[in-house]
Amino acid sequence: MAKRDYYEVLGVDKSASQEDIKKAYRKLAVKYHPDRNPGDKEAEEKFKEATEAYEVLSDDKKRPLYDQYGFAGVDGMDQGGAQYSHAYQDFSDLFGGAGGGFSDIFDSIFGGGFSSGSRRQRGGAVTGANLRYDLYLGFKEAVYGTSTDIHFKHNETCESCHGTGGAAGSARKTCPTCNGAGQIRQGNGFFTIQQTCPKCGGKGTVIDKPCPDCRGSGHQLKNKKMSLKIPAGTDNGKRIIIPGQGDAGENGGQPGDLHVIIHVESHPLFERSEQDLYCAVPISMSQAALGCDITINSLDDKKVLIRVPSGTANGKLLRIKGEGVPYANGTRKGDLYIKIMVQIPQHLSPKQKDLLKAYMELENPSENPNLIPLSELER
Ligand SMILES: [Zn+2]
Ligand SMILES: [Zn+2]
Repeated sequence: MAKRDYYEVLGVDKSASQEDIKKAYRKLAVKYHPDRNPGDKEAEEKFKEATEAYEVLSDDKKRPLYDQYGFAGVDGMDQGGAQYSHAYQDFSDLFGGAGGGFSDIFDSIFGGGFSSGSRRQRGGAVTGANLRYDLYLGFKEAVYGTSTDIHFKHNETCESCHGTGGAAGSARKTCPTCNGAGQIRQGNGFFTIQQTCPKCGGKGTVIDKPCPDCRGSGHQLKNKKMSLKIPAGTDNGKRIIIPGQGDAGENGGQPGDLHVIIHVESHPLFERSEQDLYCAVPISMSQAALGCDITINSLDDKKVLIRVPSGTANGKLLRIKGEGVPYANGTRKGDLYIKIMVQIPQHLSPKQKDLLKAYMELENPSENPNLIPLSELER
């Protein structure tokens, strides 16, 4: 099916301002939203079509490309779900700010569903940013658990102005740069680009006397130290979320979270796959043929006795139950796997040579061995 022109979809003309585009989309979104038209395929299609059009025309980068090249200019920039969900996230932005009370209407229509996952909250409150901390652990620290201090910086609400950004007795006045619009337009020959006002950050107002302690930002960058307990069995790539330790919110919004990402260093002798440990041990060819008992040092420097059965092939994995990595939640542990590496002697003494020759005569190996499947290797 041929796509309709995005301007036609929203019912605006090519010179429409961002405000017009927003308004037009708002109207269509309210009318065709799936929650309001359950089971109505046509409404759903209209909603998607409008969302896609808005997604492009509201974007300072995509709109000029669309104007110049049509669908080809914006195809493949954000496809499918991502595009859809991005527009969803913008909803409360769209309806919460300049619309004044619109978010309440919207919430009552759609049960507040739009707010979830969005960073903007009712009344202009903005949730603080989540922060990321990369924590590097030694191999054994991750296996057996550890405690560590982490040091990081995050924005806290300014104590002097309680986050308002204004000095005592200050007031908010209309932003002189954008005259309260929160957006500025910049002519650039062929088309104009609309941008968030750099002076007021899109708020439309500025403080006449900024708080001297935070220079009007409402928050202060603070050093923070926390003790973290890393449970035994923690794996590479695990994310530990510490609620409320991200950046402070704005206008009464909740703070973000601190995400601690675990990176585990490798070990020279042991490898790990989830809760199992792997290592390799060399044995001689006579040990492999006759069987033997060997003792190895485990990861925690315990002596572990391994019974190698007679006739053990090169590459065979022997399992020692319960000598692996503890599960984070309890007393159970994974297993230790030992890979047997049979060593072929490189330098034989005359006596060893004689004995092996005598053995070979008894063994009488074929001079024309049959080929075997490669999959037989390492059995
Ligand atoms: Zn302050
Ligand atoms: Zn401004």
